[in-house]
Amino acid sequence: MAVVRVSGPGARAALARLVSDLPEPRRAALRTIRHPSTGQEVDRGIILFFAGPSSFTGEDVVEILLHGGRAVVASVLDALGTLGCRMAEPGEFARRAFENGRIDLTEAEGIADLIDAETEAQRVQAAAQAGGVLHRLYDGWRNDVLDAMALTEAAIDFSDEADVAADASARAREIVVALEGSIAAHLKDGRRGEILRDGFRVVLAGAPNVGKSSLLNALARRDAAIVSPVAGTTRDVIEVRLDLDGYPVIVSDTAGIRDGGGEIEREGIRRTLARGREADLVLWVRDATGSADEVPRELREAGGAIILVENKVDLAARGGRAGAEDGETLHVSASSGVGLGALVTRIAMLARERIAPGDSPVLTQARHREALEDSARCLQDHLAQSLLDAELAAEDLRRASRALGRITGAVDAEEVLGRIFSRFCIGK
Ligand code: GDP
Repeated sequence: MAVVRVSGPGARAALARLVSDLPEPRRAALRTIRHPSTGQEVDRGIILFFAGPSSFTGEDVVEILLHGGRAVVASVLDALGTLGCRMAEPGEFARRAFENGRIDLTEAEGIADLIDAETEAQRVQAAAQAGGVLHRLYDGWRNDVLDAMALTEAAIDFSDEADVAADASARAREIVVALEGSIAAHLKDGRRGEILRDGFRVVLAGAPNVGKSSLLNALARRDAAIVSPVAGTTRDVIEVRLDLDGYPVIVSDTAGIRDGGGEIEREGIRRTLARGREADLVLWVRDATGSADEVPRELREAGGAIILVENKVDLAARGGRAGAEDGETLHVSASSGVGLGALVTRIAMLARERIAPGDSPVLTQARHREALEDSARCLQDHLAQSLLDAELAAEDLRRASRALGRITGAVDAEEVLGRIFSRFCIGK
């Protein structure tokens, strides 16, 4: 099936030219659709009409459910074109919904994330955001700032009545102290919402030929990486996206780390270290029959979780290598599959610990984080300033409210609109 969606003040009139009688708003009706130029029947389909402003976009909206054939859809689009309709830009429906005040920016971003969600945990987070949890949270905070602003202004206006002014200042301070605490707690979340949205990043690293590509393939259960017996073949970074218990995990295979090598290989190694430093988890792979390569200092110092993986245990003497270990070690064989289940369970467990949502709404995007950090700084400035200079303290609150308003789109929306809505596909 195909759904053709039309939004705008001319939607009802256009529909009236395609079907003989208009269905009642919000009632599905079967109609014959005719091309207005020829009168020829195009298809029979279900028509839905939503009268603005109670529609998704806030405008009159028509939805036509047709047979999905290419020629059927092309003919309906052609008919609508002759009636003054044009193709929507990517995300234009959501953008109109925002511009008509039906949704805020965080809800629009939530809808985009819901469409992109690949795992259950991502879906839950995106659905909550699309449903307005962040809208309510950030709007509530902005209202608190506006309350504190009103009190600060009152303190300035009544500065000749000392006790009124002092009382208003004290109440403003109370609000700001509480709010600053809430924002700080919200920011200190270990980036769990952002990692859930983007994926928990696992990097396979280790010397060439220890079996990193083979492990990636075994994890992905498909041939995503080139496996080859020649050392140094995985020069670029190869990624597979896994769904482990509903949590998105991105495993990347990297160039083997070793000294020397050609120009291209050195570049590959540079990328490996860069990836490893940014990873949420590094699997440091070693050949159970080879040398016990140490984890490079750059990776150890990056502070992320590291698991030592001894691969090729099928070739090693029973029990694997003995001796001092510098961390948790798992023994696996990419070829026989031994130990892979335990490895996957361990990765899933670490991913869950790192990104499982708690009870309160979580930050999901760097854009929000920046604005929240900005507003927290303004609130701190306010608290430092409020006993010294009331005018400057009031200005700090105005800046804090602007920062919060940027998240929901209440202020300064123009600069981020293009970036947010271009992520959508056409028709959403
Ligand atoms: P990478 O350079 O670390 O990515 O290593 P590859 O995945 O390309 O593997 C290097 C060689 O080791 C290939 O010939 C693989 O078939 C072989 N290999 C990888 N894992 C195992 C394993 O668990 N057991 C055995 N016997 N061979 C393996």
